[in-house]
Amino acid sequence: MDLVSKEQAEYLIIRGDKEYEVVIGLEVHAQVTSNSKLFSTSSTKFGAEPNTQVSLVDAAFPGMLPVINEFCVKQAIKTGIGLKAQINKRSVFDRKNYFYADLPQGYQISQFKDPIVGEGKVILDMPNGQKEVGIERLHLEQDAGKSIHDMDPHNTFVDLNRSGVALMEIVSKPDLRSPDEVNAYIKKLRSIMRYLGTCDGNMQEGSLRADVNVSVRLKGAKDFGTRCEIKNVNSIKFMQMAINYEANRQVDLIEDGQKIDQETRLFDTKKNETRSMRSKEDAHDYRYFPDPDLLPLEVTDEFIDSIKSEIPELPDDKKKRFIDEFKISPYEATILVSDIEVAKYFEEVVAKMGNNKDMKLAVNWITGELFAVLNDKNLEISQSPISAKNLAKLINLIKNGTISGKIAKSIFEDMINGDIDPQVIVEEKGLKQQSDPKALEVLIEKIINENRDKAIEYKQGKEKLFGFFVGQVMKNSGGKANPQMVNEILKAKLQE
Ligand code: ADP
Ligand code: MG
Repeated sequence: MDLVSKEQAEYLIIRGDKEYEVVIGLEVHAQVTSNSKLFSTSSTKFGAEPNTQVSLVDAAFPGMLPVINEFCVKQAIKTGIGLKAQINKRSVFDRKNYFYADLPQGYQISQFKDPIVGEGKVILDMPNGQKEVGIERLHLEQDAGKSIHDMDPHNTFVDLNRSGVALMEIVSKPDLRSPDEVNAYIKKLRSIMRYLGTCDGNMQEGSLRADVNVSVRLKGAKDFGTRCEIKNVNSIKFMQMAINYEANRQVDLIEDGQKIDQETRLFDTKKNETRSMRSKEDAHDYRYFPDPDLLPLEVTDEFIDSIKSEIPELPDDKKKRFIDEFKISPYEATILVSDIEVAKYFEEVVAKMGNNKDMKLAVNWITGELFAVLNDKNLEISQSPISAKNLAKLINLIKNGTISGKIAKSIFEDMINGDIDPQVIVEEKGLKQQSDPKALEVLIEKIINENRDKAIEYKQGKEKLFGFFVGQVMKNSGGKANPQMVNEILKAKLQE
């Protein structure tokens, strides 16, 4: 199983002299951020005791009537606008009929022919440039309950807390070509929805999961191959592993002269393989029909316009502005905008730096030192042990020459323990950079005198020794000497 990434960007599966391309389309299920469910007033809070957030509607008692939650409709439209998509003023809720223990209604209320959102697009920032991925549609539907399989004794329990929670199913066109693009796509989708506040994107809690459709074809072929759909994958890593396995499996079958059966498969995360669940169901297997308990959903232009007016600056626009306004690189801007909280933090640092801003320092300290600490302590930036205000102060102290970059790193370590004002640390510990030329001259002369022999060797051409002198001066000043001035004065003095 060789996996060769040719020309860096291309993901191809090679067998002998044949090159296969992988085609991927995702159906992402994103839980709508909303306090109550799509058709009932029960809470959606995660982590509650099983079956404590279940109304009669969610438990599908006979005669109970669903009532649409206007806020969830708003959230779906908002997401559609964020995906630059067509918003459909009229959409229809259908019953998708199937039997499962955690689906007491015997059907899921979903949208089939007339979804609330139509075609849109998402732009991916790939290392070799941007890539557009088409969105086919976004529709609203209910989540099912959850079966909990208890192995000892062999029991299965049903928790209906999730039953009826609003999901947005976002269906992509088959535009993705590699696990890396899938990674970028999910992250971009999540980023957009977090900016909008329409889905928290929390994959551990199941707020974002995907059905992954995979097919393969010879590179350059015009038609798509037969796809298999891998159900309900709940982490990006697993999606990538599943695609890798599944694409290789399909290529092996083709190479063996066999046909691909269109089927629904599951990904076994322990064995790292996909297995057949059932042959692919078609729409008619579900006996879709408009839910007679719900009228078609009609929204007005005014309603859509009022939602449009609430749309915040989204990642792509923010990235453009960061590049224009702050003169940072596209690469840096991509990192800073991908998480809305990081973008907020960065902008606060920039604001707090005042008039004499050093963007390069700000970007480096946030993406370097601060990210390392957050990573190390497993914290979100919103839980950062150092406030944007104090980080800005530290950066300004470097910028105006009060402290060296090296001293700043040691101050930074101290700041972590209680978000301490760096100015206070500088004063308490006497860390101010030595920038008085007179004092530096005295120190430098002393060191040259103590190392006369080396000074002569230097003058005779052994230039390497310059580093030795810089080191001695820095050491003698406790790291506080202004390095630039040390360089200048040393050069002059060693020539004397
Ligand atoms: P279904 O409900 O039958 O799964 P959908 O239209 O909801 O159908 O989703 C189909 C998904 O499969 C889309 O994301 C689409 O991009 C993807 N897809 C369609 N054809 C292929 C193919 N040949 N290879 C890979 N993905 C495909
Ligand atoms: Mg599907």
